[in-house]
Amino acid sequence: MLAWTGLRHRYPGGAEIAYADCTLPAPCHLLLRGASGSGKSTLLALLAGLLRVQQGQLNVAGTNLAGMSPRALDAWRGETLGVVPQRLHLSEALTVAENLALPALAAGQGADPARAAELLAALDIAELAHRRPHQLSVGQAQRVAIARALMRRPRLLLADEPSANLDDEHTLHMLALLLDAAESQGCTLVIASHDARVVEALSTRDEVAEIVLRGRPSAGPMSSRPTGLSGSRTSFSSDEGSA
Ligand code: ADP
Ligand code: MG
Repeated sequence: MLAWTGLRHRYPGGAEIAYADCTLPAPCHLLLRGASGSGKSTLLALLAGLLRVQQGQLNVAGTNLAGMSPRALDAWRGETLGVVPQRLHLSEALTVAENLALPALAAGQGADPARAAELLAALDIAELAHRRPHQLSVGQAQRVAIARALMRRPRLLLADEPSANLDDEHTLHMLALLLDAAESQGCTLVIASHDARVVEALSTRDEVAEIVLRGRPSAGPMSSRPTGLSGSRTSFSSDEGSA
């Protein structure tokens, strides 16, 4: 389950971001939409346990993250989470295969070269295993980042603006890869994007719920607005409260 109530976040000196309440069954696929600055990355960081919950309740994959200690959050993150970050954070000193092994090694577990090979093949980049990140195209690096995120079989996969550096064709392919991967692993997928191509591509997928963050200072009190979409599709909206 993915659920939050009364969730708010304020950066030092910044306006408060307030998120409309949300409850989704797990596993689910979720698109977080909204203009730049509306709080998408902040919500992902909260879901990832990278930002402490300041106000409200946040339940991710059966765990209430509010009030968890940093140490407990670290452990939870390691066994629950895969992240495809906006900046890919591939290590230049390591090959693709070594980059894939790194999260497990950092967690004190053995590398899993079979898993790495399987994912690289599934993402159609098996031949890149021994290259270094600077020898990859941006689209290839993005795939490596997806493979790395899936290495430890996460229950929650987060992707922040995953199409940022991709052309139209790669964007569609990457969305399909993310959805297929999440589907086949039975993990919850949350994509944050303000890319019209992503929004359009996912609008035809009934299994993808959608949350619209409105994040404009002129916004009134928090509200839930239907967007006119029907079927199993769920929509929410969230406003950024004024400071
Ligand atoms: P989005 O991902 O939708 O573009 P963000 O979650 O990155 O939005 O940002 C939401 C708001 O919080 C913005 O006003 C942004 O300037 C602010 N913000 C984001 N990160 C920080 C930070 N580390 N320190 C202060 N303010 C931040
Ligand atoms: Mg962002």
